[in-house]
Amino acid sequence: MISIENISKWYGDFQVLTDCTTHVGKGEVVVVCGPSGSGKSTLIKCVNGLEPVQQGRILVEDADVTAKGTNLTRLRSRIGMVFQHFELYPHMSVRENLCLGQQKVLGRSRDEANAKAEALISRVGLLPHIEKFPGQLSGGQQQRVAISRALAMDPIAMLFDEPTSALDPEMINEVLDVMVELAQDGMTMMVVTHEMGFARKVADRVVFMDAGRVVEDRATEEFFGNPESERAQDFLSKIL
Ligand code: ATP
Ligand code: MG
Repeated sequence: MISIENISKWYGDFQVLTDCTTHVGKGEVVVVCGPSGSGKSTLIKCVNGLEPVQQGRILVEDADVTAKGTNLTRLRSRIGMVFQHFELYPHMSVRENLCLGQQKVLGRSRDEANAKAEALISRVGLLPHIEKFPGQLSGGQQQRVAISRALAMDPIAMLFDEPTSALDPEMINEVLDVMVELAQDGMTMMVVTHEMGFARKVADRVVFMDAGRVVEDRATEEFFGNPESERAQDFLSKIL
Protein backbone atom coordinates (compact mmCIF):
# COMPACT_ATOMS: atom_id res chain seq x y z
CA MET A 1 0.00 0.00 0.00
CA ILE A 2 2.79 2.45 0.99
CA SER A 3 6.15 1.66 -0.52
CA ILE A 4 9.14 3.83 0.37
CA GLU A 5 12.01 2.90 -1.90
CA ASN A 6 15.57 4.09 -1.31
CA ILE A 7 14.69 7.69 -0.62
CA SER A 8 17.24 10.36 0.15
CA LYS A 9 16.43 13.93 0.99
CA TRP A 10 18.35 17.12 1.66
CA TYR A 11 17.34 20.36 3.33
CA GLY A 12 19.77 22.62 1.47
CA ASP A 13 23.20 21.09 2.10
CA PHE A 14 22.02 19.00 5.03
CA GLN A 15 21.18 15.39 4.22
CA VAL A 16 18.22 14.56 6.43
CA LEU A 17 17.32 11.12 4.95
CA THR A 18 19.77 8.61 3.51
CA ASP A 19 18.59 5.66 1.42
CA CYS A 20 15.46 4.92 3.47
CA THR A 21 13.36 1.92 2.50
CA THR A 22 10.27 0.48 4.14
CA HIS A 23 6.84 -0.79 3.25
CA VAL A 24 3.41 -0.67 4.86
CA GLY A 25 1.08 -3.35 3.54
CA LYS A 26 -2.69 -2.98 3.41
CA GLY A 27 -4.08 -3.25 6.93
CA GLU A 28 -0.64 -3.13 8.49
CA VAL A 29 0.48 -0.90 11.34
CA VAL A 30 4.08 0.27 11.26
CA VAL A 31 5.51 2.25 14.16
CA VAL A 32 8.43 4.58 13.45
CA CYS A 33 10.66 5.49 16.38
CA GLY A 34 14.13 6.82 17.02
CA PRO A 35 15.96 9.71 18.64
CA SER A 36 15.00 13.34 18.19
CA GLY A 37 16.23 14.72 14.89
CA SER A 38 16.58 11.29 13.27
CA GLY A 39 14.18 12.22 10.45
CA LYS A 40 10.91 10.56 11.52
CA SER A 41 8.69 13.58 10.84
CA THR A 42 10.45 14.25 7.57
CA LEU A 43 9.94 10.67 6.43
CA ILE A 44 6.24 10.74 7.19
CA LYS A 45 5.78 14.12 5.48
CA CYS A 46 7.40 12.71 2.34
CA VAL A 47 4.72 10.01 2.19
CA ASN A 48 1.94 12.44 1.39
CA GLY A 49 4.16 14.76 -0.59
CA LEU A 50 4.34 17.54 2.01
CA GLU A 51 8.12 17.37 1.54
CA PRO A 52 9.81 16.49 -1.76
CA VAL A 53 12.56 13.86 -1.98
CA GLN A 54 15.61 14.15 -4.21
CA GLN A 55 16.28 10.44 -4.69
CA GLY A 56 14.23 7.27 -4.63
CA ARG A 57 10.49 6.98 -4.90
CA ILE A 58 7.36 6.54 -2.82
CA LEU A 59 4.31 4.69 -4.06
CA VAL A 60 0.92 4.92 -2.38
CA GLU A 61 -1.26 2.24 -3.91
CA ASP A 62 -0.61 2.82 -7.60
CA ALA A 63 0.28 6.52 -7.32
CA ASP A 64 3.90 7.65 -7.43
CA VAL A 65 4.04 10.47 -4.87
CA THR A 66 7.50 11.51 -5.99
CA ALA A 67 6.81 11.69 -9.73
CA LYS A 68 6.32 15.05 -11.37
CA GLY A 69 2.73 15.62 -12.36
CA THR A 70 1.17 13.51 -9.59
CA ASN A 71 -1.95 15.16 -8.27
CA LEU A 72 -0.87 15.66 -4.67
CA THR A 73 -4.11 17.35 -3.65
CA ARG A 74 -6.05 14.28 -4.65
CA LEU A 75 -3.57 11.97 -2.96
CA ARG A 76 -3.64 13.94 0.30
CA SER A 77 -7.41 13.81 0.41
CA ARG A 78 -7.08 10.02 0.52
CA ILE A 79 -4.43 9.86 3.27
CA GLY A 80 -5.37 11.02 6.76
CA MET A 81 -2.72 12.83 8.72
CA VAL A 82 -2.72 13.61 12.44
CA PHE A 83 0.02 15.75 13.95
CA GLN A 84 1.33 16.41 17.43
CA HIS A 85 -0.51 19.72 17.64
CA PHE A 86 -4.12 19.12 16.79
CA GLU A 87 -4.60 21.42 13.86
CA LEU A 88 -8.33 21.88 14.07
CA TYR A 89 -9.93 25.00 12.64
CA PRO A 90 -10.25 27.08 15.83
CA HIS A 91 -13.12 29.24 14.61
CA MET A 92 -15.33 26.29 13.67
CA SER A 93 -17.33 23.89 15.80
CA VAL A 94 -16.42 20.23 15.98
CA ARG A 95 -19.29 19.54 13.59
CA GLU A 96 -18.01 22.10 11.07
CA ASN A 97 -14.48 20.75 11.39
CA LEU A 98 -15.74 17.32 10.39
CA CYS A 99 -18.07 18.49 7.63
CA LEU A 100 -15.92 21.00 5.77
CA GLY A 101 -13.61 18.62 3.87
CA GLN A 102 -16.41 16.15 3.19
CA GLN A 103 -18.47 18.83 1.48
CA LYS A 104 -15.71 20.87 -0.19
CA VAL A 105 -13.39 18.08 -1.28
CA LEU A 106 -15.62 15.02 -1.56
CA GLY A 107 -18.74 16.89 -2.67
CA ARG A 108 -21.00 15.27 -0.07
CA SER A 109 -24.30 16.88 0.74
CA ARG A 110 -24.79 18.64 4.06
CA ASP A 111 -26.94 15.76 5.31
CA GLU A 112 -24.45 13.10 4.30
CA ALA A 113 -21.58 15.02 5.88
CA ASN A 114 -23.53 15.53 9.08
CA ALA A 115 -24.48 11.89 9.36
CA LYS A 116 -20.87 10.83 8.93
CA ALA A 117 -19.64 13.47 11.41
CA GLU A 118 -22.11 12.38 14.05
CA ALA A 119 -21.31 8.70 13.62
CA LEU A 120 -17.57 9.28 13.91
CA ILE A 121 -17.83 11.65 16.84
CA SER A 122 -20.09 9.18 18.67
CA ARG A 123 -17.48 6.48 18.21
CA VAL A 124 -14.91 8.54 20.12
CA GLY A 125 -17.46 9.45 22.79
CA LEU A 126 -17.74 13.14 21.98
CA LEU A 127 -21.26 13.53 20.60
CA PRO A 128 -22.28 15.80 23.52
CA HIS A 129 -19.45 18.15 22.48
CA ILE A 130 -20.19 18.32 18.75
CA GLU A 131 -21.33 21.96 18.77
CA LYS A 132 -18.33 23.15 20.80
CA PHE A 133 -15.26 24.92 19.48
CA PRO A 134 -11.81 23.32 19.74
CA GLY A 135 -10.73 25.81 22.43
CA GLN A 136 -13.50 24.51 24.68
CA LEU A 137 -12.14 20.95 24.61
CA SER A 138 -9.23 19.25 26.38
CA GLY A 139 -6.13 18.29 24.43
CA GLY A 140 -7.14 14.63 24.41
CA GLN A 141 -10.63 15.50 23.18
CA GLN A 142 -9.20 17.74 20.45
CA GLN A 143 -6.91 14.99 19.27
CA ARG A 144 -9.83 12.55 19.08
CA VAL A 145 -11.67 15.15 16.98
CA ALA A 146 -8.60 15.48 14.74
CA ILE A 147 -8.56 11.72 14.18
CA SER A 148 -12.30 11.71 13.47
CA ARG A 149 -11.90 14.58 11.02
CA ALA A 150 -9.27 12.62 9.12
CA LEU A 151 -11.51 9.53 9.11
CA ALA A 152 -14.45 11.52 7.75
CA MET A 153 -12.60 11.62 4.43
CA ASP A 154 -12.60 7.78 4.17
CA PRO A 155 -8.82 7.61 3.95
CA ILE A 156 -7.05 4.58 2.49
CA ALA A 157 -4.28 5.02 5.10
CA MET A 158 -3.54 7.13 8.16
CA LEU A 159 -0.26 8.83 9.07
CA PHE A 160 0.38 9.92 12.64
CA ASP A 161 3.25 12.08 13.87
CA GLU A 162 3.58 11.84 17.66
CA PRO A 163 -0.16 12.30 18.20
CA THR A 164 0.09 11.99 21.99
CA SER A 165 3.35 13.72 22.79
CA ALA A 166 1.78 17.11 23.48
CA LEU A 167 -0.85 15.64 25.81
CA ASP A 168 -1.01 15.47 29.59
CA PRO A 169 -0.38 11.91 30.76
CA GLU A 170 -3.97 11.25 31.77
CA MET A 171 -5.17 12.03 28.23
CA ILE A 172 -2.71 9.89 26.37
CA ASN A 173 -4.64 6.68 26.75
CA GLU A 174 -7.95 8.05 25.54
CA VAL A 175 -6.22 8.88 22.25
CA LEU A 176 -4.22 5.66 22.07
CA ASP A 177 -7.42 3.68 22.67
CA VAL A 178 -8.96 5.25 19.58
CA MET A 179 -5.84 4.40 17.57
CA VAL A 180 -5.80 0.82 18.83
CA GLU A 181 -9.43 0.41 17.76
CA LEU A 182 -8.62 1.84 14.35
CA ALA A 183 -5.71 -0.56 13.97
CA GLN A 184 -7.87 -3.50 14.99
CA ASP A 185 -10.48 -2.43 12.44
CA GLY A 186 -7.83 -2.96 9.77
CA MET A 187 -6.73 0.59 8.96
CA THR A 188 -3.35 0.90 7.26
CA MET A 189 -1.29 3.06 9.61
CA MET A 190 2.17 4.57 9.82
CA VAL A 191 2.70 5.98 13.29
CA VAL A 192 5.61 7.98 14.64
CA THR A 193 5.42 7.46 18.39
CA HIS A 194 7.45 6.66 21.45
CA GLU A 195 4.50 4.89 23.05
CA MET A 196 6.04 1.44 23.07
CA GLY A 197 3.00 -0.09 24.78
CA PHE A 198 0.98 0.91 21.73
CA ALA A 199 3.68 -0.46 19.41
CA ARG A 200 3.73 -3.80 21.21
CA LYS A 201 -0.03 -4.08 21.18
CA VAL A 202 -0.83 -3.30 17.54
CA ALA A 203 2.27 -2.76 15.42
CA ASP A 204 3.14 -5.41 12.86
CA ARG A 205 6.59 -3.90 12.44
CA VAL A 206 8.81 -1.32 14.04
CA VAL A 207 11.07 0.94 12.01
CA PHE A 208 13.92 2.40 14.05
CA MET A 209 15.63 5.47 12.60
CA ASP A 210 18.88 7.10 13.53
CA ALA A 211 20.63 10.01 11.81
CA GLY A 212 18.38 9.85 8.75
CA ARG A 213 18.70 6.12 8.17
CA VAL A 214 16.38 3.18 8.70
CA VAL A 215 18.55 1.23 11.10
CA GLU A 216 16.05 -1.52 11.88
CA ASP A 217 12.82 -2.62 10.21
CA ARG A 218 11.65 -5.71 12.03
CA ALA A 219 8.61 -7.60 13.24
CA THR A 220 7.50 -6.01 16.53
CA GLU A 221 8.30 -8.98 18.75
CA GLU A 222 11.75 -9.33 17.23
CA PHE A 223 12.45 -5.65 17.65
CA PHE A 224 11.58 -5.64 21.33
CA GLY A 225 12.93 -9.09 22.07
CA ASN A 226 16.23 -8.73 20.36
CA PRO A 227 17.10 -5.37 18.79
CA GLU A 228 20.02 -5.89 16.47
CA SER A 229 21.76 -2.56 16.56
CA GLU A 230 23.46 -1.02 19.55
CA ARG A 231 21.65 2.22 18.79
CA ALA A 232 18.23 0.60 19.07
CA GLN A 233 19.26 -1.22 22.26
CA ASP A 234 20.43 2.05 23.73
CA PHE A 235 17.22 3.82 22.66
CA LEU A 236 15.01 1.12 24.16
CA SER A 237 16.95 1.04 27.42
CA LYS A 238 16.25 4.77 27.81
CA ILE A 239 12.55 4.77 27.06
CA LEU A 240 11.24 1.44 28.34
P1 ATP B 1 11.70 14.75 16.72
O1 ATP B 1 11.73 13.44 17.45
O2 ATP B 1 12.39 15.81 17.53
O3 ATP B 1 10.37 15.15 16.25
P2 ATP B 1 12.38 13.86 14.02
O4 ATP B 1 12.99 12.51 14.06
O5 ATP B 1 10.95 13.99 13.68
O6 ATP B 1 12.68 14.59 15.43
P3 ATP B 1 12.82 15.69 11.83
O7 ATP B 1 11.87 16.72 12.32
O8 ATP B 1 12.42 14.90 10.65
O9 ATP B 1 13.27 14.71 13.01
O10 ATP B 1 14.18 16.44 11.53
C1 ATP B 1 15.33 15.75 11.09
C2 ATP B 1 16.47 16.75 10.92
O11 ATP B 1 16.17 17.65 9.88
C3 ATP B 1 16.76 17.59 12.14
O12 ATP B 1 18.15 17.75 12.26
C4 ATP B 1 16.08 18.90 11.85
O13 ATP B 1 16.75 19.96 12.49
C5 ATP B 1 16.21 18.99 10.35
N1 ATP B 1 15.07 19.70 9.74
C6 ATP B 1 13.76 19.41 9.89
N2 ATP B 1 12.97 20.21 9.16
C7 ATP B 1 13.82 21.06 8.52
C8 ATP B 1 13.65 22.13 7.58
N3 ATP B 1 12.42 22.49 7.15
N4 ATP B 1 14.75 22.75 7.12
C9 ATP B 1 15.99 22.38 7.51
N5 ATP B 1 16.22 21.37 8.39
C10 ATP B 1 15.17 20.72 8.88
MG1 MG C 1 9.29 14.76 14.66
